Amino acid sequence: MHSQIPEPLRALVEQLARLPGLGPKSAMRVAMTLLKWPEAETRRLGKGIHDLRDNLHLCSRCGGLSATDPCAVCKDENRARDTLCLVNEWDSMLTLDEGGFYHGQYMILGGLLAPLANMDSDSLDLDRLISRLEEGEVHELILALGATIDAENTASFIRNLVRKRFPHIRVSRLAQGIPLGAEVKYMDRETLRQSLQYRQDI
Ligand SMILES: [Zn+2]
Repeated sequence: MHSQIPEPLRALVEQLARLPGLGPKSAMRVAMTLLKWPEAETRRLGKGIHDLRDNLHLCSRCGGLSATDPCAVCKDENRARDTLCLVNEWDSMLTLDEGGFYHGQYMILGGLLAPLANMDSDSLDLDRLISRLEEGEVHELILALGATIDAENTASFIRNLVRKRFPHIRVSRLAQGIPLGAEVKYMDRETLRQSLQYRQDI
């Protein structure tokens, strides 16, 4: 970065440049835009970022982001308690739930097995899943982890684990109509609905 850039601006640009989709140049553009905003608005934005950690919790049931614990989905008495849908990330759960065709429980795994990125089974949040299954309410575990190679590997790892420890639980996954390499959060509603409807036992 140019040496004439004042320190506060340089610090902000360096932080912004770490955000997805922003390099140093676009981070500078964002910073310059913020400087043109009315002060109240930049303060509101700053406060929003500052308060994010304080006001947002991880739901202790599903691992999703929420202003309350448990989250609205886990608290909902009208949802079926015998189906648990395992997704990789929280936004996949949002996509699935927006479809309005799934009325069971969710859990967020928070990662996939990825040997190349040093993600092994210890890095996954399996304790939460295991203790949920130990409660005995879940009769079917639906794996909605996507159709990437890492997702496939993770799915068979979890299937083996469940088969060994909870042989009575049905393990299924979204139908293979999902385009290869697809992530659940980017799938359209109809594809998702069909892949859920025609889910396959694994
Ligand atoms: Zn929850």
